[in-house]
Amino acid sequence: MLSLTDVPNTATSLTYYEKLGLIIALSTFAAIVSLAVLCIAYKFKLGFFKRYRRTDLPLVEIPEDEAIIKPLLPSSSGPSSTTETTLLTESRTLKSICIETEESFTGSGMGLPLIAQRTISRQIRPINTIGQGRYGEVWRGAWLQGEEVAVKKFSTRDEKSWERETEIYLTSMLRHENILGFIASDLRDGDISPQIELWLITDYHELGSLHDYLVRSILTPAQMAAMVKSIVAGLAHLHYEIVAQRGKPGIAHRDLKSKNILVKKDLTCCIGDLGLCVRYDSRRTDSPRLDMPNNDKAGTRRYLAPEILDDSINVNNFEAWKAADVYSLGLVLWEIGRRTDVGVYEKYQLPYYDAVSADPSLEEMKRVVCEPSGVRPTCPNRWEAVPCLNVLQRVVKECWYANGGARLTAPNIKKNLAANLFNSIHTS
Ligand code: ADP
Ligand code: MG
Repeated sequence: MLSLTDVPNTATSLTYYEKLGLIIALSTFAAIVSLAVLCIAYKFKLGFFKRYRRTDLPLVEIPEDEAIIKPLLPSSSGPSSTTETTLLTESRTLKSICIETEESFTGSGMGLPLIAQRTISRQIRPINTIGQGRYGEVWRGAWLQGEEVAVKKFSTRDEKSWERETEIYLTSMLRHENILGFIASDLRDGDISPQIELWLITDYHELGSLHDYLVRSILTPAQMAAMVKSIVAGLAHLHYEIVAQRGKPGIAHRDLKSKNILVKKDLTCCIGDLGLCVRYDSRRTDSPRLDMPNNDKAGTRRYLAPEILDDSINVNNFEAWKAADVYSLGLVLWEIGRRTDVGVYEKYQLPYYDAVSADPSLEEMKRVVCEPSGVRPTCPNRWEAVPCLNVLQRVVKECWYANGGARLTAPNIKKNLAANLFNSIHTS
């Protein structure tokens, strides 16, 4: 009979090299199995990956409107819920859904209901790039039946900028025909890389930016007047504070330029790229009335008002930011004036093309624009003799004063310029 101590001990009977081999084989096997599990989990995007990503990055918040959005949310918040499906597959356009939704919320600017926003990005097929900006590429995309949208893609590195621009588009009562129409914001897995992309989805305008349009086209006086009127109306709406229960804060753009204005099919325009805006709510008592973006990015150097260039602007004064926008507006109107065909017209040029380098530094701009030199773009002499361009140049010059307080205001320009311009066309 064998006693326990007689049982041969296999472990101890193995040689040193056999033991080493066994350990290596077991470790390799374990490593291969773990790697395979990870690959499968990633491929099928198992829940824990998704959850990690979703909670890692903040989702769009809709602070004010949450209570109103809730009735639209389906009882189960899954993406295939009835409300969402009905909303996004009916034969309606995205624009009509946005407008309808917002009208029922007394005119907020929030685009699609939140739940639909999370589905729509998965229903959009990117087609081609249409623009390259500060944060990444802008794409033309197609939704379901082919309705075109524009998708501004931000990398997670620029998450704060995506959040801020989304937040501005969600501002109550922002929607206006001369402000780029917001549709949705969402997080998306990258199409090529596994990187998450942050999407901002808006109406698509096939004629592109005002800058690109003016480079390749000239305008009749009537087209010029309609374009100018629409830009001024957009800026006046942005600046205007509506003091009411569900009102609108005043908003200053802070990066107004022809590349941030889009041309619609009827040649009127809308203002986009709202990422650097500041908001002002005079009714706020609990927190600062001026809501500045959480970054120190300034606008585009070529379009910066003299008080920004020489740092004399009172950054806490909302009126000062609006006046700085009006200065930039003057430069945009000058770009448009040059391309107006009244028998003759000028070649497209950027403001200060003849005074600074292609990519001017702050110092360079300051030397040209700030006092004592205080140079401004030249209005051709012939503008004096053509009634519509004469009206335009008088406004442009009143947008350019060195003293921000002396400049015209956007609502003021809207009121006077539009009527005068149209009248002047009949006498041109
Ligand atoms: P960034 O913040 O990176 O400057 P923008 O919003 O200004 O991005 O867009 C960059 C460019 O992309 C614009 O100058 C324009 O040419 C193009 N673009 C942006 N949005 C649209 C749109 N909705 N429709 C057509 N083109 C657009
Ligand atoms: Mg831009």
